[in-house]
Amino acid sequence: MINKPLVSLVVPLYNEERYAYDNLHAILAGAETSWADIELIAVDDGSRDMTVKEVERAAARDPRISVIAFTRNFGKEAAIHAGLEQAKGEVAIVLDSDLQHPPALIPQMLELWRGGAFVVEAVKSHRGVETFSGKLFARTFYFLFRHLAGLDLAGQSDFKLLDRQVIDTYLAFPERHRFFRGLIGWARFPSAQIPFSVPERAGGTSQWNKLKLIRYAINNLTHFSSLPLRLVTYIGMGTLSIGAVVGIVSLVQKFRGAAIDGFTTVNLLIILMGGAILLGLGIVGHYLALIYDEIKGRPNYLIRPWKKDSINE
Ligand code: UDP
Ligand code: MG
Repeated sequence: MINKPLVSLVVPLYNEERYAYDNLHAILAGAETSWADIELIAVDDGSRDMTVKEVERAAARDPRISVIAFTRNFGKEAAIHAGLEQAKGEVAIVLDSDLQHPPALIPQMLELWRGGAFVVEAVKSHRGVETFSGKLFARTFYFLFRHLAGLDLAGQSDFKLLDRQVIDTYLAFPERHRFFRGLIGWARFPSAQIPFSVPERAGGTSQWNKLKLIRYAINNLTHFSSLPLRLVTYIGMGTLSIGAVVGIVSLVQKFRGAAIDGFTTVNLLIILMGGAILLGLGIVGHYLALIYDEIKGRPNYLIRPWKKDSINE
């Protein structure tokens, strides 16, 4: 008999003590298929409550669960990374611990993987219950991301299936700062999408406050775009051009005797110096952007993965 393929479920947890035990079992139950073996890697992201104990209790009952526990809160991205590094499966699925990423979708995602997809993305067709400011925040973030980084991530979530080849490629990226959704979107592996509507959190509260979200948004935007750095040059050029026009007007006024004493000199100095300084800063920005790209070391190209026994899209 041929060995069954192994599916790794990667689940980050932060302060989920009340529901961790039940949710992990619910996730395993939802993922059940006859043709695959399952392992679940629970990554405790430095919870300040008893989440680790609960996860260990769950692992004691079900040997398919293994536990990674961080020393402190390193963030969901780090937890996903650690889980993927630990995953032994031919395929991995990353999903939230609060059942907002419905485990019932897992068998469907696995079918699409068997059909040849290397990435299966669960896309939010309905964002679930969110506050007005939360929706506005998400919209603004995706708008900026689309225009600054050229990637449309609207509706994207971290609920994703990745083929082994994709996991290995992802883990081999040398950059340290990771934006999972962004990097997978950027890589454009042959993928399939499943729409889902986000259910209510299965207990507990979201650990994201506005400040944490803003930091997350700014970090990820600047990680994917150096446009803000380069923009300074254009502002500098604009200022210098306006400066030149204003300067000429001031000079003409001066020679006509229509200018107040000293005004022309001050005018010219302020405008031309301001423009020159901005331009100088912009040039520094350009070099900084180049250095930044070099340091990230993102690959220049990615080879399309290939499966022997299936037809790619
Ligand atoms: N999480 C994490 N580290 C954090 C914050 C959250 O590992 O610093 C986990 C959390 O336990 C959950 C998932 O990431 O499994 C999504 O978090 P949450 O439900 O708070 O976010 P939301 O659903 O509001 O996006
Ligand atoms: Mg949630």
